[in-house]
Amino acid sequence: MHTACFIDGAFVPARDGRTFAVRNPATDAIVAQVAEGGAGDARAAVDAAARAFPAWKSLAAIERARHLRRIAELMHRDAERLADLCSQECGKPLAEARTEVSYAASFLEWYAEEGKRVYGETIPASDPAKRLLVLRRPCGVAAAITPWNFPIAMVTRKMGPALAAGCTQVVKPAEQTPLSALAIAALAGEAGLPAGVLNVVPGTDAPAIASAFLDTLHVRHVSFTGSTEVGRILLRQSAEQVVRMSLELGGHAPFIVFDDADLDAAVAGAMASKFRNAGQTCVCANRFLVQRGVHDAFVDRLTAAVAALKVGDGRAAGTQIGPLIDDAGLRKAEAHVADARALGARATTGGARAAVAGCADRFMQPTVLVGVTPAMRCFREETFGPVAPVCAFDHEADALRIANDTPYGLAAYVFTRDGARIVRMTEELQYGIVGVNDALPATAQAPFGGVKHSGLGREGGRQGIEEYLDLRYVSWRVG
Ligand code: ADP
Repeated sequence: MHTACFIDGAFVPARDGRTFAVRNPATDAIVAQVAEGGAGDARAAVDAAARAFPAWKSLAAIERARHLRRIAELMHRDAERLADLCSQECGKPLAEARTEVSYAASFLEWYAEEGKRVYGETIPASDPAKRLLVLRRPCGVAAAITPWNFPIAMVTRKMGPALAAGCTQVVKPAEQTPLSALAIAALAGEAGLPAGVLNVVPGTDAPAIASAFLDTLHVRHVSFTGSTEVGRILLRQSAEQVVRMSLELGGHAPFIVFDDADLDAAVAGAMASKFRNAGQTCVCANRFLVQRGVHDAFVDRLTAAVAALKVGDGRAAGTQIGPLIDDAGLRKAEAHVADARALGARATTGGARAAVAGCADRFMQPTVLVGVTPAMRCFREETFGPVAPVCAFDHEADALRIANDTPYGLAAYVFTRDGARIVRMTEELQYGIVGVNDALPATAQAPFGGVKHSGLGREGGRQGIEEYLDLRYVSWRVG
């Protein structure tokens, strides 16, 4: 297990020698002591990335692609080990961690190809003596600040496009889950990625590391996935060096089920969207809007499916719901349930903490709440836990109004068989991602990102690489 900072192609201790403990949220067991990187380490990482940039950007795209593909191959080779590490540090069930490994590798594989298609343009000039060209150039060192809920995929989703574009990168993984990022760095080293192209600085003092990243002209792009609150801090900080930012922030996804929906598909989608990673993903359905005609049938089926979920240590066989990441996460989910109950909602299943033998007190029973209204906290804030609040609605216009009545705009889901309604909903929902009869829209080929307070920029798809490219216009007088 690699526990040191990865800077300039080598694992090195933090400059001041300090370490911090990474714990398994299911058991509180210490998984490892990890280097406590700080501002000095972050600056060293940026310097290494800046030194590596000229050679990396000058490599043929096809060569950069080979590096990315090789790292992805090693990820597949070590999938079981990576999945176990991921499950240990973030608590997710092993089956989900395995899926995350291949999802994570897909960003390297997809951008290995896309990096070959960074085409330029020629523009017909009004002056016949001129030739006008537009080049797309890697912007410089890219910084990535990643969250704990997808410890591997959030690193590679930023690393794939950055490295494919010709940028070098510095990464600060979440303090809860640095080991997965360091494992990827080790595989990059094994794959022969040139020193300095990828650097990882773990540490608990996120503001110090992030400030060091933002305090230099070398870093020309910052990609952040996390809370809206921290996204705002970074956006303000980015003003000093006028750095481009991609922000994937909080979500508050509505999951809308119409009377004419395929109910089996809607319930299966609800389970996949809401209960993945114990409800701790930014695109998780956060509130269910169900049309009156199918409300009771939907609730009955959802309740039966939710009551059957197995709660436990993510590494134990058969576990479907792991722990919340920390005590604050558990308290928030509980508070949302308590608030909803106080205002008249009722749990059809769950609603309390779950005791898991031999584990920490950090598990929540998967919960379905009915009689929920938009006045309740669970209908206004991201819960980030295994709680499914259901609210009945009568008309399409009501669903749309309630769904859009939020500052967030990441993902929305619509289940219906009516084509005209699908057109109306996809055009009127104020969200960056709309899943139509599809609860799992995220994929390497498509642009993932939000509007309003959910963020700026896109990750994935051909759009994702644009974030790392500067346009350079060349005016060439030929006569
Ligand atoms: P969450 O609430 O999901 O933990 P955060 O936004 O707090 O989300 O964390 C996401 C990432 O941002 C983590 O890597 C974390 O260390 C980092 N982070 C937290 N605070 C700051 C900050 N002030 N500046 C830069 N990064 C930060």
